[in-house]
Amino acid sequence: MTSFPDALPARTVTDPDVRARYGVDESLGATAPEHFEVVRARDLADVVDVLRWAHETGTPVVPQGARSGLAGGSVALEGGVVLNLEGLDTVVEVDPLESLAVVQPGVLNADLKVAAAAQGLFYPPDPASSAFCTIGGNVATNAGGLGCIKYGVTADYVKGLQVVLPGGEVIRTGHRTAKGVAGLDLTGLFVGSEGTLGVVTEVTVKLQPAPEPALTALAVFEHLDAASRGIVALRLDRHRPSLVELLDGPTIEAIQAIADFGFPSGAEAALVVQSDRAGHTAEDVLRYAALLTDAGAIEVAVADDPQESDALLAGRRALHHALEAKGPHFIEDVCVPVGLLTTLIAAGRDISARTGVEITMSGHGGDGNLHPSLFFDADDQHSRERAEAAFGELVAVALAMGGTITGEHGVGSLKARWLRDEVGTASIERQRAIKALFDPRGILNPGRVYW
Ligand SMILES: Cc1cc2nc3c(=O)[nH]c(=O)nc-3n(C[C@H](O)[C@H](O)[C@H](O)COP(=O)(O)OP(=O)(O)OC[C@H]3O[C@@H](n4cnc5c(N)ncnc54)[C@H](O)[C@@H]3O)c2cc1C
Repeated sequence: MTSFPDALPARTVTDPDVRARYGVDESLGATAPEHFEVVRARDLADVVDVLRWAHETGTPVVPQGARSGLAGGSVALEGGVVLNLEGLDTVVEVDPLESLAVVQPGVLNADLKVAAAAQGLFYPPDPASSAFCTIGGNVATNAGGLGCIKYGVTADYVKGLQVVLPGGEVIRTGHRTAKGVAGLDLTGLFVGSEGTLGVVTEVTVKLQPAPEPALTALAVFEHLDAASRGIVALRLDRHRPSLVELLDGPTIEAIQAIADFGFPSGAEAALVVQSDRAGHTAEDVLRYAALLTDAGAIEVAVADDPQESDALLAGRRALHHALEAKGPHFIEDVCVPVGLLTTLIAAGRDISARTGVEITMSGHGGDGNLHPSLFFDADDQHSRERAEAAFGELVAVALAMGGTITGEHGVGSLKARWLRDEVGTASIERQRAIKALFDPRGILNPGRVYW
């Protein structure tokens, strides 16, 4: 059997520095193994060749998009091949009549939005990493993001897929038509399967009419409970906001530490809220502002135009940068019933006080999906272990509340140890049986998700 790089010389990365870059994703502590190859696929045939060869040789394959993943799902495996799909980056078509687009997996989320907008259409899934993550990665992780409270997640927009299976067989799932119920929903099975069942080589997505440019309201609260009441009121409103993001007090401090975004000192929470409802944005944000004032906001600013809107959103946009500036941290991704958000945050504060681990709580509050960040001293192994233990405690709290270990980032390597706690042994066994059906030799992302 031919070995790499001889099997695909033109696509295999030979420069060790370049190869090392493809060895890790954005997950904390991701480390590239000593021996692995990287193939940058340029077309379907490359993917088929790699999966045929890997199946025959029993070589692990890590499908990879833009490596923005936070769960360790696209980190290279020892002795394996990273199959990078970024080069398959063509928007094949946008069809306004059927309201769909067909794209290759390496198309960036932001570029699909631009292609849709050129035809007056809209692709709603909006991860905060939109500018640099791929649609293939979004499909594999069932990515969420900022607009989920109104628009849902990636799965709500995937109509069909082309997938290459281990061994090189190419299958199509789903349908292009407005409706279609033939057979089992294999599209749904692949969405969120984190590269463990097949490699996605084409995606057909549903598009919507373009919304209005969003208007924003920013509310500041002295008490967390009041912010929670505000979220409940917004969710119960007849016209749901298109975005409801929550920042807790420590997060606001971290953001204000990098620049003055106008948050008052001592605030316990802030909510950023938007409406993009055609013809009604101004009326909606005023109504949201009134709801938030009734809930106990001490200050509410309402934008009159898209420029002001951007300014009010700027603090939220600076979040990732602010947390990076604050220091090394784990990013959590738990989702709980929306009515229990205050309980989750209180539990986080309790864990922080008890363990001494600094924890900021922020994220997609309107969905009950927070990204608590747990900070540690990178030079102190004990500090890191304490943060890891606190991370585990928070996961347990979310599960006890009827929540999930991951709202959108996926299980990957980092959360595989908790999947059984959430879904149970019987479910894990069925999931493994499905994996074995598609990937009998276990070459795709082995050791991840359901192990
Ligand atoms: C600053 C920042 C903000 C973020 N914000 C959000 C957010 O708001 N919401 C959210 O959901 N996520 C967010 N993420 C996480 C990340 O961007 C998403 O998980 C994204 O979907 C990953 O896409 P990617 O192209 O980088 O995939 P990668 O990281 O390369 O891969 C992710 C997973 O998908 C698999 N995969 C990739 N491509 C394919 C393919 N073609 N076929 C089969 N499997 C494949 C990989 O094996 C891996 O398991 C954020 C990340 C960062 C760094």
